[in-house]
Amino acid sequence: GPVIVWFRDDLRVADHPALHAAIELGQPIVALYLLDQQSTGIRPLGGAARWWLHQSLRSLGDSIAALGGRLVLRRGAAGPIIARLVHETDASAVFWNRRYGLAERTIDTAIKSDLRERGVDAHSFAGSLLFEPWTIQTGQGGSYSVFTPFWRACTAGAPPRAPYPTPAAIPGWAGDPTTAALVSDDLDDWGLQPSSPDWAGGLRASWTPGEASAQALLHIFLAESLPRYATERDEPAQNATSRLSPHLRWGEISPYQVWAATQTAQRGLRGSELASATRFLAEVGWREFAYHVLFHAPDLATENLRPAFDAFPWPPLDQDALAAWQQGRTGFALVDAGMRELWRTGSMHNRVRMVTASFLIKNMLVDWREGERWFWDTLVDADAASNPFGWQWVAGSGADAAPYFRIFNPELQAAKFDPHQQYIRENVPEYGTDAYPAPLVDLGETRRAALAAYERVKGQS
Ligand code: FAD
Repeated sequence: GPVIVWFRDDLRVADHPALHAAIELGQPIVALYLLDQQSTGIRPLGGAARWWLHQSLRSLGDSIAALGGRLVLRRGAAGPIIARLVHETDASAVFWNRRYGLAERTIDTAIKSDLRERGVDAHSFAGSLLFEPWTIQTGQGGSYSVFTPFWRACTAGAPPRAPYPTPAAIPGWAGDPTTAALVSDDLDDWGLQPSSPDWAGGLRASWTPGEASAQALLHIFLAESLPRYATERDEPAQNATSRLSPHLRWGEISPYQVWAATQTAQRGLRGSELASATRFLAEVGWREFAYHVLFHAPDLATENLRPAFDAFPWPPLDQDALAAWQQGRTGFALVDAGMRELWRTGSMHNRVRMVTASFLIKNMLVDWREGERWFWDTLVDADAASNPFGWQWVAGSGADAAPYFRIFNPELQAAKFDPHQQYIRENVPEYGTDAYPAPLVDLGETRRAALAAYERVKGQS
């Protein structure tokens, strides 16, 4: 029978180990994507992520069709859907690339043992991370909580495998096409896209989801920005970063492809330009680190990694102040520019993510989880590992975190990283006029209040 290839966070046809292995078997392929919002523990996707997923599935469906196959779409709890599809197609095997969240691993493990009990081969592959979490351990056999030794351990071993090429063909399954159960749900019925109001105009103008544009972005970045990455990556107006994060989040490009292409591109580089390439790969390493941390601490989005932070005395939430932050009306130009960039484009420059997060946590004394939830809903790259990891890093409660008492001053950050106010003016057109809001807080006062609150945490550790 055919092999079911179950697509999840790997919406691509090139360098897809599960698809590659299935094609090697020489059997017809049933390519499946299923939208599971039912299974226990699955965090519902945010709005921007749902928009991205819709476009990305359309693109994947087209790529698979161009290679002779067909993408089957289903909705519902993964376990029963896989069982039914195996039955309907008389599949001999189900292949997939691994996921690293606890709920996802629990689902996958249960499905694997269920399939094997029924004599159906089930096999999982490494496609989304360069280094599997259980293979990177400290000398004592534990997991790393600091990035530098983590990345040293990763890069000390065998280099990541070479990527698999795009398959020449994806042999479709010739089962009875009239079988109602095989006719795919219509993607449009899934309601992933906003209708009224249609808030996705800025997303459409900023992004083209899909494997082809991920490859194009990578190659433009390597040709034009890689040599200046180390010196300009912190300046939001420079466009010196790759913008690959949503493509990596959805697996439209794999970290193996990024790794290999960067190795090739860096061959001609020397000195500071070569250091730029090393720096870029280390940022890809932060993504790995966030996933490893999530693997070992599955409650990363809700629980402080450092339990001492449970004692932090968060004051009651001020909804109006939170709304001012979300909508970019704090009266601090770099914060507002970032929050408005996020709302309009579904993304925000990394430096500005740190500044806006620090402002919420330390100048507004709002629990980092509120900010994490807003980013989860609005970022196109919202990711179960990197997002809570980034928030806990800024809060000081996380792995290799900035110490709590390091409080970004949004005005100094703006002067340093947006010296000509180009990024601010792009995102806050009324900046400098009477229409621009007055400061929401006093930076000095709120800083002192935050440090006083932090004394409680220090008492715990
Ligand atoms: P580049 O500089 O070109 O880096 C290349 C790739 O490396 C990125 O695409 C990304 O996959 C990875 N990367 C870079 N920096 C980091 C980092 N600090 N942590 C983890 N991975 C990194 N990144 C997400 O992918 N999803 C998120 O939900 C997310 N939430 C964040 C929340 C906060 C509060 C902070 C401070 C950071 C967050 N980041 C998140 C990390 C980082 O801001 C983005 O990955 C980066 O801005 C993406 O831009 P780029 O693709 O141009 O990055």
